[in-house]
Amino acid sequence: MAEETLFSKIIRKEIPADIVYEDGIVTAFRDISAQAPTHILIIPNKVIPTVNDVTQEDEAVLGRLFTVAAKIAKDEGISESGYRLIINCNKDGGQEVSHFHMHILGGRPLGRMLAK
Ligand code: 5GP
Repeated sequence: MAEETLFSKIIRKEIPADIVYEDGIVTAFRDISAQAPTHILIIPNKVIPTVNDVTQEDEAVLGRLFTVAAKIAKDEGISESGYRLIINCNKDGGQEVSHFHMHILGGRPLGRMLAK
């Protein structure tokens, strides 16, 4: 079984987080170090360390991340202005926490996708 990170503790409410959505499959909470007016992480409740560890079995979970992202964007009032979904993988991707997570960022113009 994949090793747990602090994100599993957030799901189990063993450490505090500003949870904006939760169900039996995914949990969403505000990033502790927000980089935009809206910066929320959506994570599968099951531990999937990185995109590299995704299997066919996870396809329903990954679909849920997107339907929840769309719901959160609407709730946050950024659906029309726009937003960015980011999933980092491993060192070069800038992944710091080894529990698959999708960032939702919005509420201001986000600029270029990558620094030149
Ligand atoms: P990564 O760099 O792995 O894609 O993103 C990890 C994110 O988790 C970072 O944006 C970081 O600010 C956020 N983060 C790390 N520790 C905590 C925490 O304890 N609580 C919350 N809410 N966010 C965290």
